[in-house]
Amino acid sequence: MAKQKHVLCVPLPAQGHVTPLLKLSHCIADHGFKVTVVNTESVHAQVMADNQRDEGPNPIKFVGFPDGLHTDKERKDWAKLLESISRVMPGHLQEFIEKVKQQSTGNEDEQISFVIADLNAGWALEVAERMGIERAGFWPASVSSLALTLHIPKLIEGGFIDNEGIALKDDVIPISKILPSYKSDDLTWSVPEDLTLQKAFFKWASAIVHHSKRSTLYLCNSFHELEASACGVIPGVLLVGPLLASTRLLHCRGSLWNEDLTCSNWLDQHPPQSVIYVAFGSTTIFSPEQFYELAHGLEKIGQPFLWVIRPDMTDGPVNKFYGTFLQRVRNHGKLVQWAPQEEVLAHPSVACFFTHCGWNSTLEGLSNGIPLLCRPYFADQCLNRSFICDVWRVGLEVDGDENGVITRHEVRTKILAVLGSDEIRANCLRMKEMARKSVSEGGLSLKNLESFIELIKA
Ligand code: UDP
Repeated sequence: MAKQKHVLCVPLPAQGHVTPLLKLSHCIADHGFKVTVVNTESVHAQVMADNQRDEGPNPIKFVGFPDGLHTDKERKDWAKLLESISRVMPGHLQEFIEKVKQQSTGNEDEQISFVIADLNAGWALEVAERMGIERAGFWPASVSSLALTLHIPKLIEGGFIDNEGIALKDDVIPISKILPSYKSDDLTWSVPEDLTLQKAFFKWASAIVHHSKRSTLYLCNSFHELEASACGVIPGVLLVGPLLASTRLLHCRGSLWNEDLTCSNWLDQHPPQSVIYVAFGSTTIFSPEQFYELAHGLEKIGQPFLWVIRPDMTDGPVNKFYGTFLQRVRNHGKLVQWAPQEEVLAHPSVACFFTHCGWNSTLEGLSNGIPLLCRPYFADQCLNRSFICDVWRVGLEVDGDENGVITRHEVRTKILAVLGSDEIRANCLRMKEMARKSVSEGGLSLKNLESFIELIKA
């Protein structure tokens, strides 16, 4: 009888990284593999709390390691978090793999035989290589953003960016003849308003380049029809997306917050394509002033809206305004702290998605044929926005005024423009079709996933 393999999956401890790797883990477990997912202890606790909603035994085992930090405030500081996990977690990971090996002497099935690590947690690939374990990198974002990251050394060499990732030429950055040039504003490590954070991000991106050499195979949560040209510049990239919860039975969705399960019922009460869904992912933060403008803009449209407002979404108090706003919009607006987003986007009453353009949100919108209104915050979101608005033409962008604030007028105008565009809607429906085909029988992403499964079985 063939040996059962034990696969270890290591995401970066952040919402947009945990969920897609967890979905991939489920696909692997569906093929009879033992799968263990490693998180930091704090993310592990959040994922386990989400498990409560699930029925039946979970085919995936979860473990949590200390991240070397002491408070949640520290964990929200990206520079601190990235530095700490890369220093502390490799040791814990090695110890864990050794412990599993000792405990399973005589039972080879239990021993970890394959590691899949987010390239953002590429230190795990280094540990696997040192321990002689087969491995693959996982990229939870677009192939285009991976191409940009892996070309960092060439961009420095070509004088397009300096050693700290700062663009040296104002306009565009070429990577390959077969890819459209990148805008200097779209560099995924760029944080113009916080150069310390930008340095930390660039250091991190450069570490990805280093860690990527520890594997010759990268799985990416995208699909070929979406990013055909970018695939041509990364040898070894295997597109297996969109990884969607709805395509598989998931026992644990990996949500780090409690989903408000009243959303579906509320959506049921609205006509098809009438609701504006507004959600800016797990990390976007607004000033109170920006928050007020968004709120007034949504209110002015007079159409039903469902808005996800995380308790930590503003960097100043908005409670007083929030109370009166809630009262004013009670008949057509629903505000929740965290939504079951994939379910929401699949609901027929949703008309458009006002998003921060995180890659998961982008893919979830595309896979459901929902027009997008873009307000990127940081990381790869600006690059995703460029693809959404300029390449795929499935959405529009809201622009800031002379102070960078997106006014209520801009919100209203652009939402109405997205809702009224036949071209955008037609492109969205085409995207939905391509995305669904890719993960269905005969589709390229499904074939890639199956060939990966064969590879780890061998
Ligand atoms: N999400 C969710 N409920 C919400 C908001 C977001 O379940 O109310 C999920 C969303 O479906 C996506 C993930 O959180 O899978 C966010 O990932 P993304 O890459 O879009 O953005 P990030 O949070 O990493 O900035």
